[in-house]
Amino acid sequence: METQLYKIAAIAQIDERLDELNEDFGDLPEQLRRKENVYKEKVEIVEETQGILNEIKKFCAQAKFILVDLKDKEEKLAQKQFQIKNNREFDAITNEIAHIKNEHEKLSDKLRSEGVKEDNIKKILEEQIRERDVAKVDMDDKIEEIKHLKEIQQDELLRLGKIRDKYADDLKGRAYPEYERIRVFHKDAAVSIKKNSCSGCFSSLPPQIIVNIRTNQDTLHYCEGCGRILIPEEIFVDVV
Ligand SMILES: [Zn+2]
Repeated sequence: METQLYKIAAIAQIDERLDELNEDFGDLPEQLRRKENVYKEKVEIVEETQGILNEIKKFCAQAKFILVDLKDKEEKLAQKQFQIKNNREFDAITNEIAHIKNEHEKLSDKLRSEGVKEDNIKKILEEQIRERDVAKVDMDDKIEEIKHLKEIQQDELLRLGKIRDKYADDLKGRAYPEYERIRVFHKDAAVSIKKNSCSGCFSSLPPQIIVNIRTNQDTLHYCEGCGRILIPEEIFVDVV
């Protein structure tokens, strides 16, 4: 018959192993979080540049239409002017043509400078896309690393989880909640008595207490120094 203290000791041993497995992950989750943030940032930068480029392209396409239109207007006016005999009207059309030519020239200049801008931004965008893709690979590698580690641990986690659940269900009264409460402060919530001392805080224990713990293994006994649950030295568990 397994005593309450034996079951607590078994759970403590399993938890020690589970903590070890968890530590194998180290700061991998944090590393992944950082890489996700870098990737997200790069995606936003690419989107922003793409937006600027689209605006330029839209402007250039519209400007080309307007230029054709202006040229068309200019030619029509030139033909009209050819037929005009009246000086006043002739001058008016001359002015109008000059104005259109001026508009055409201004827009052509702007179109050229926007074209240069477009080429430059395209180059910047290419570099930003490259950086974004590198960040994606970097992030995916980290995801893969964590996945791989989880796969390695999966069987053991499952096995330990089942054993742990069995012992936890078997514990009576407040024993399990008490163990969990102490775990908040001490990861090793239940420790063995070694050389008449608590192996958690090394404070020595009076012989009477040790005898009491040995003979009453269905009750929890706490170290007065640190509050951990004390396990008699002779209880030996090997459940992991
Ligand atoms: Zn102690």
